[in-house]
Amino acid sequence: MRMYDIIQKKKRAGALTEAEINFVVQGLTTGSIPDYQISALLMAICLTGMDTAETTALTLAMAASGDQLDLTELPGIKVDKHSTGGVGDKTTLIVAPMVAALGVTVAKMSGRGLGHTGGTVDKLEGIPGFRTQLRIEEFFATVRQIGICVAGQSMALAPADKKIYALRDATATIESIPLIAASIMSKKLAAGADKILLDVKTGNGAFMKTPEEARALAQAMVAIGAGAGRETAALITDMSTPLGVGVGNILEIKESIDVLRGHGADDLRTVCIELAAHMLLLAEKGGLPACRQLAAEVLTNGKALEKFAEMVAAQGGDRACIDDPARFPVAAATRTVFSQTGGYVAAMDTEGIGMAAMMLGAGRETAEDEIDYTAGLTLLAKTGDRIEAGAPLATLHTNDETKLPAAEAKLLGCYTFAETPVQRPPLIY
Ligand code: URA
Repeated sequence: MRMYDIIQKKKRAGALTEAEINFVVQGLTTGSIPDYQISALLMAICLTGMDTAETTALTLAMAASGDQLDLTELPGIKVDKHSTGGVGDKTTLIVAPMVAALGVTVAKMSGRGLGHTGGTVDKLEGIPGFRTQLRIEEFFATVRQIGICVAGQSMALAPADKKIYALRDATATIESIPLIAASIMSKKLAAGADKILLDVKTGNGAFMKTPEEARALAQAMVAIGAGAGRETAALITDMSTPLGVGVGNILEIKESIDVLRGHGADDLRTVCIELAAHMLLLAEKGGLPACRQLAAEVLTNGKALEKFAEMVAAQGGDRACIDDPARFPVAAATRTVFSQTGGYVAAMDTEGIGMAAMMLGAGRETAEDEIDYTAGLTLLAKTGDRIEAGAPLATLHTNDETKLPAAEAKLLGCYTFAETPVQRPPLIY
């Protein structure tokens, strides 16, 4: 088999065989195929696509390129959850303890922030002492002991994805539904859960800007799950505004605690209940209406909060911060941003708001950058709200006050206003 012929075939929109795909993934993992040939193939895939059989074969080969966790020794149906990424998306912090409190085993590996989007691992590391880099034995022991563990993704899972992702990032080949689907699902399959719930975000803060693109990605990933014998479901949810009000690591942890205490923003709570209900459904805890009710109850009866606190303590974090969030470190500088215009908030540039939080120190611009866990912003007005000129739009938080003016200008540019009432897009498609 020759890589040249495989590139040529895909360039002419031919369907690659499983053997050809395995040859490519093996060659890129061992280094026997040079990056320029892999990159050429990625561009051909980006331009001509892949069918379901090819995408499934690519995903399985990528999942098999490194360690694959075997969770069978853990009790019950193991259900994983994955978000395609957004701004202020702290749902894992809430939903994982919700379902664990209801008896679903959660053995979850999560990622760090990517581009303008935040990552669960960075958020958890905002809890003083919390450890996300666990040895595999510790990971299993924690799940066995308390029914939940959320750790950083092992470097040994799906190494082919890391290589392909880095090449895609450098060759303008990120925006390809089969490549995104294979990238996400290879990591999910290698992480070993029996069933998978996908939260596919759509809107100007998501990788998939339109509901149609999100649906195509959701369908591609669900088909891969089915092809791999893992039941997979997907919800398509709104990312045309940040989810909830906090953007930034400790701010999002505190907001999650608020929701786990039965409070918090309506949009965030609604999406969490729906995600938890679908995880419970996959775990065969009842029909959807009953699962929705269980999910809502566990937010008000304190059990999800208690499970979260148990997880924090088990992973070395300071439980006292969960019991009393006033103990979390706070940023040295804050600034309230006031609107220069009055009217209805017509739209928010959600990606821009994610960037503003990064400019305050909440994310990394290069892999080596240190995160300021206290940094970020709290939104005081969202799409559909009516505000007067001079009313507050958001509060900025940072330990480096020289960052405030640029972040303020960025945030002000993210809001557009209308004179007449504005309907928010649906929260759940
Ligand atoms: N997230 C991933 O893990 N992979 C992609 O390709 C895009 C988003």
